[in-house]
Amino acid sequence: MSSLLIKNGTLIDGTGGNPLPGAAILVEDNKLKEVGRADKVSRPAKDLTEIDAQGGYILPGFIDCHVHLMGEKFDLQKSIMTPFSYHFYEAIEYFRRTVMAGVTSVRDAGGMDLGTKMAIENGLVLGPRVKISINGLSITGGHGDGWVPSGISLDTPPYPGMPDAICDGVSDVRKKVREVLRAGAEIVKICSTGGVLSPTDRPEYTQFSPEELAAIVQEAHFRGGVKVMSHAQGTEGVKQAILAGIYSIEHGIFLTDEIIELMLERGTYLVPTLFAPVSIIEDPEAKQKLPPFLYQKAADVVEIHRNNVKKAYLAGVKIAMGTDSGVMEHGRNLRELGLMCDIGMSPMESILASTKVASECLEWQDRVGTLEEGKLADVVITRMDPLEDIRTLADNDNIAVVIKDGKVVKDMRLS
Ligand SMILES: [Zn+2]
Repeated sequence: MSSLLIKNGTLIDGTGGNPLPGAAILVEDNKLKEVGRADKVSRPAKDLTEIDAQGGYILPGFIDCHVHLMGEKFDLQKSIMTPFSYHFYEAIEYFRRTVMAGVTSVRDAGGMDLGTKMAIENGLVLGPRVKISINGLSITGGHGDGWVPSGISLDTPPYPGMPDAICDGVSDVRKKVREVLRAGAEIVKICSTGGVLSPTDRPEYTQFSPEELAAIVQEAHFRGGVKVMSHAQGTEGVKQAILAGIYSIEHGIFLTDEIIELMLERGTYLVPTLFAPVSIIEDPEAKQKLPPFLYQKAADVVEIHRNNVKKAYLAGVKIAMGTDSGVMEHGRNLRELGLMCDIGMSPMESILASTKVASECLEWQDRVGTLEEGKLADVVITRMDPLEDIRTLADNDNIAVVIKDGKVVKDMRLS
């Protein structure tokens, strides 16, 4: 058995309690064995590695509830010219960057197959712990349909671990849910409205009928209570998704008071991904590379999105951190916390949304999300105090140490 002692730092444990200066954590194998004041934490005599936090801040590994780890920044030319297998090798770098940013668990909202998840789990490649959805279900012509006006499809061709995403009608959607579950989906992802980065629809468009949505939720529920997450931006599509029993609303741009009431009633999560549209309009390349109508769609929604997420936050809707990483470069995930604070969250609330609440959204609260005894040892040490300035988390040089599953995977401490 190997032991790791993290010492000389201020503990921000992800439970929302007061920061604890002079804290220590004893890790045994991959689990947190003792957490608390340094003088109360035991110090095994044998096989002990010590990590001096150097007066920094000790936090749980962060959790991003909405990423697309298998791709990065839509590029029409590139997606046509890249051979199929090349994407897998590129993705190894995306996984690494995600972990280096301090994100140790994610929910992949479409694109990762079971074999890739296993490669991370078995340590073949470094990456975050992933809850996979396989592929996001979409109607014909919907947000997940890669058809373009030339008549070709830009979607990755289906392969044994990756069924295609398109389904229409109650019996077809049932079959598609069964296919993604067979392929290893731990959450079912669907698109119940149009979106920003899709050629043939708009965020306001409603996709899937109430009957189709109900069939999807029921079919997933039959398999041990698998939950459904929905890309949902337009008012009608968000409302129908919530009424059908969908577990988490992704993006949620055109929320209304009525929808916010429904989310509160049903305990629906909101994963705002505030960074997604912001990243597009901030990116000088996007303006050149994206078709102008796609760029304009992103610019149109930023303000509306912020205002409505703010309303949902003030009303008390459960908000879990998600970025839609892949829309922007991977490894910039913690920028989202600053954007959450811009809509009124306190730094501590944004940390909770990215740790404890996010772990609940992933139904992994027994494993990760807080630094409490018995949980997996996913730990981040920052040089600067995130409660003082939440934006420092977005600087990866400030993320001095990352420990995943009891193993030090990043160590940039000054010696
Ligand atoms: Zn997404």
